[in-house]
Amino acid sequence: MNSMCSDELLWIDGSQGEGGGQIVRSSLGLSLVTGRPIRIDNIRAGRKKPGLMRQHLTAVNAASEVGAARISGAKIGSRALAFEPQAVTPGEYRFSVGTAGSATLVLQTVLPALLVAEGPSKLTLEGGTHNRWAPPFEFLQRAYLPLVNRMGPRVEATLERYGFYPAGGGRISVTIQPSGDLQGFDLVERGEFVRRQVRALVSNLPRHIGDREVNEIIAKMNWDGKVARVDEVDGQGPGNVVFAEIESEHVTEVFVGFGRIGARAEQVAREVVRDLRDYVKTEVPVGSYLADQLLLPLGISAWQSGSDQGERGGTFRTLPLTMHSTTHIEILRQFLGITIDVDAADDNRSVTVRVGP
Ligand code: AMP
Repeated sequence: MNSMCSDELLWIDGSQGEGGGQIVRSSLGLSLVTGRPIRIDNIRAGRKKPGLMRQHLTAVNAASEVGAARISGAKIGSRALAFEPQAVTPGEYRFSVGTAGSATLVLQTVLPALLVAEGPSKLTLEGGTHNRWAPPFEFLQRAYLPLVNRMGPRVEATLERYGFYPAGGGRISVTIQPSGDLQGFDLVERGEFVRRQVRALVSNLPRHIGDREVNEIIAKMNWDGKVARVDEVDGQGPGNVVFAEIESEHVTEVFVGFGRIGARAEQVAREVVRDLRDYVKTEVPVGSYLADQLLLPLGISAWQSGSDQGERGGTFRTLPLTMHSTTHIEILRQFLGITIDVDAADDNRSVTVRVGP
């Protein structure tokens, strides 16, 4: 392992940059991977309701279970947390958010450590599976996990039950076959388009909501109506999302719009169109959300390689970085002592991110 591995307490300022939950989740994930104890202050200072909310607390408790950690400050509303992991134990775990809080964000917290653990794991995650401001299940399954698997591990996610806000009650199961070392990869070109799909889900709501969403996306993108589909699914309460998936030679991206009270179906669809147009026009392989989530496994890969085992980590091209990504980069640098360089293209419409030891 890398020489940066240290028992020294690392202090994380939760208010830095974008000041949200990702600072907490990534810090917990990295603490598990490196074994380094942390203290986080000013938790979610940038949010309307600062401190740990139920879904963050579930993430803290999940990380603590996986890493047999000593913790203090793990309660709702807490703005400071101390976390000291002992040893990561792979195996079978069940984590339940208990509200419609995002189950995929709980996965985001424990996955890094289980990717490099000493044995396989099977997780059952209960809560929201399609939450605004969180990766929806299909993004995980179609965009994120295939890239994680390119790094060596075999992770498979299955959606067992839909969980929409506010009813929740969804369930995802995930099997993880780790690989001790994460291989890096380069993703600077997306290659030719292979397949496009537009898909709306409606649960306990009129089907026309989904029809109008897919029709709007097809019309605005000038795509063939054959790539559209509407699925009536059975969640615990009402819910609606619409996705557009673009599979290219080297990568698949998924863009999503979340149906909600007060937003017309056409408006939700146009939010997806905006993201799609940016992605298609700039010809980048990696969209903004995928960029901010790829930084973590690539950072771990770079950190593992240290200076003696050959270069890992990798390079990808994406849209100009969001505040989520720039904050994530700072956390990774702080934690792992790795190098992350960001170069803007001449037209400033894309950037190349290099993650190395
Ligand atoms: P935070 O706002 O700090 O709690 O972090 C939210 C996390 O959810 C980040 O990792 C985002 O990349 C991710 N996320 C939010 N919206 C989406 C989306 N539409 N698709 C994929 N990931 C998302």
